[in-house]
Amino acid sequence: MISRLTLTTRRLVSRPIRTFSASAADFNDGFPTLRPAVTMFSEEENAVRDMVQSWANTELKPHVRAMDQEGAMRPEILSSLFQNGLMGMEIPAEYGGSEMNFTSACIAVEEIAAVDPSFAILVDIQNTLTNNAVRFWGSQTLKDRWLPRLATDTASSFCLSEAGSGSDAFAMKTTALPSSDGSTYTINGSKLWISNSKEAGVFLLFANAAPDLGYKGITAFMVDASTPGIHVGKKERKLGLRASSTCPLTFEDVVVDKDCVLGEVGKGYKYAIEILNEGRIGIAAQQLGIAKGAFNATMPYLRERKQFGTAIGDFQGMQHQVAQLATEIHAVECMTYNAARMKENGLPFVKEASMAKLYSSQVAEKVASKAIEWYGGVGFTEDIIVEKFYRDCKVGSIYEGTSNIQLQTIAKLIAQEW
Ligand SMILES: Cc1cc2nc3c(=O)[nH]c(=O)nc-3n(C[C@H](O)[C@H](O)[C@H](O)COP(=O)(O)OP(=O)(O)OC[C@H]3O[C@@H](n4cnc5c(N)ncnc54)[C@H](O)[C@@H]3O)c2cc1C
Repeated sequence: MISRLTLTTRRLVSRPIRTFSASAADFNDGFPTLRPAVTMFSEEENAVRDMVQSWANTELKPHVRAMDQEGAMRPEILSSLFQNGLMGMEIPAEYGGSEMNFTSACIAVEEIAAVDPSFAILVDIQNTLTNNAVRFWGSQTLKDRWLPRLATDTASSFCLSEAGSGSDAFAMKTTALPSSDGSTYTINGSKLWISNSKEAGVFLLFANAAPDLGYKGITAFMVDASTPGIHVGKKERKLGLRASSTCPLTFEDVVVDKDCVLGEVGKGYKYAIEILNEGRIGIAAQQLGIAKGAFNATMPYLRERKQFGTAIGDFQGMQHQVAQLATEIHAVECMTYNAARMKENGLPFVKEASMAKLYSSQVAEKVASKAIEWYGGVGFTEDIIVEKFYRDCKVGSIYEGTSNIQLQTIAKLIAQEW
C-alpha cells in the first residue's frame, strides 16, 4: 500500500498542473518532494470516480425515485454493483476483488450517494465494515469462504445495535454460548436497525460469548444468513433511505461452528470500535455525496428561474448563500479525504474521522435544506430530487455513532492532547 501511494504521489506531482515553481531543494532523486493537495487523486482514483459516476448516472439514476417509492432495491442493480467490482473495492484480486485503496472505496461511496444514498450505505457497509473486518481479522478459512463471495455476489450486514444498546453498544444482550467441547456456539438474541438485512447473505454479528466477563466477552462472528433459527423481521418504515432495508433480526438457538468466529474470542468490542472508526470516513463520504448531489441538482435552476426579470442566481442574497455552502462542501471534502489518507498512511486518524463524520452530516443537512429553499415551492414536492436528499441525509447524524458520540470522541482526544 505504501509503495503504491508513493508511486501515485510521484505521478501526481510530476503532472504539469502545479501553479507554482519548485526549487532544487524540492526534488529528490529527480522526483519532486512537494506533497499533493488532499483533493488531488491518483490516476487510478480518478478512473474510479469517472467509472462510478457514469455507472450511477446510467444504471442507477433512472430507478432511484421508483425504488424510494417501492421501498426496495431492484436486484438487477445490486447485481450490477457486483459485476462492476464495487462491492469488493479493497479485496485482493486473488479473492476476486478490485484490489483498490480505501480512498477509492470512499470515492465510490461519495459518487453513489450523489445519486442514491440508499445504495451508498449498502456499498459503504460492505466495503468499509464487513470486507475489511474479514481482511484484517478473519482466519484463512473465513477469508477463503467469504471474501470471494463478498466481492462477487453476496451482500452483508453489520449487526451490532439492539433495542437496549445503541450508543452504549457493548451493553448488548445477544449471547453466543460455546458448547461444552468448544466446537460450536449457540446464538440467542435480537438485533435492531440492521441495514441491508433483506439482501444480505452473511451477517457480521457481535454477540457475547462470555457474559460474565461483560464487554470482554463480546465476540464477532460471520454467520451465513441461511443458518436455521435466523429471522429477518419487517422493514422499518423510515423518513429516508427508503430503498435500503432496515430490519430487526432474531436469533433463536442458532448453532454455528467455531470457525465462524472472526478473530479472537472476546475481542469483538475492539474490532467493532476499530472498524467503526474507519467506517465513519465512509459515512462522511456518503454525506459529502449527498451535499454535492443536492447542490448540483439545484445550481442549473438558479440560472433558469427568473423573478423580478432576472435569474434568481444573480441576486447577491442568493450568491452569498451559494458561496457559503460551496465553501462548507469543500471543507467536508478536505476533511473526508484527509482522514482517508491518514488512515491509509497508518497515522492516528480517529479524531479526524469523527470530525469528518460530524461535520459532513451537518453540512449535508444544511445543503439539502437550502436546496429545497432555493427551488421555492417546487422544491417541497416529489417532482424535484432535493426533497429526497433532505430525507436521506438525516440519518447521517445518527448511525455509526450519533453526533453527540462523535463530539464525545473528539473531546476525549483533545483532552488527551492538553
Ligand atoms: C437507518 C438506520 C440504519 C442503521 N443501520 C445499522 C446497522 O446496519 N447496524 C447496526 O448495528 N446499527 C444500525 N443502526 C443503529 C444506529 O447505529 C443507532 O441508531 C445509533 O447508534 C444510536 O443508537 P440509538 O438509536 O439506540 O440511540 P440512543 O443511543 O438511545 O441515543 C439517543 C440520543 O441520546 C444521545 N446520547 C446517548 N448517549 C449519549 C452520551 N453518552 N452523551 C450524550 N448524548 C448521548 C444520542 O446522541 C441520541 O441523540 C441504524 C440506524 C438507523 C436509523
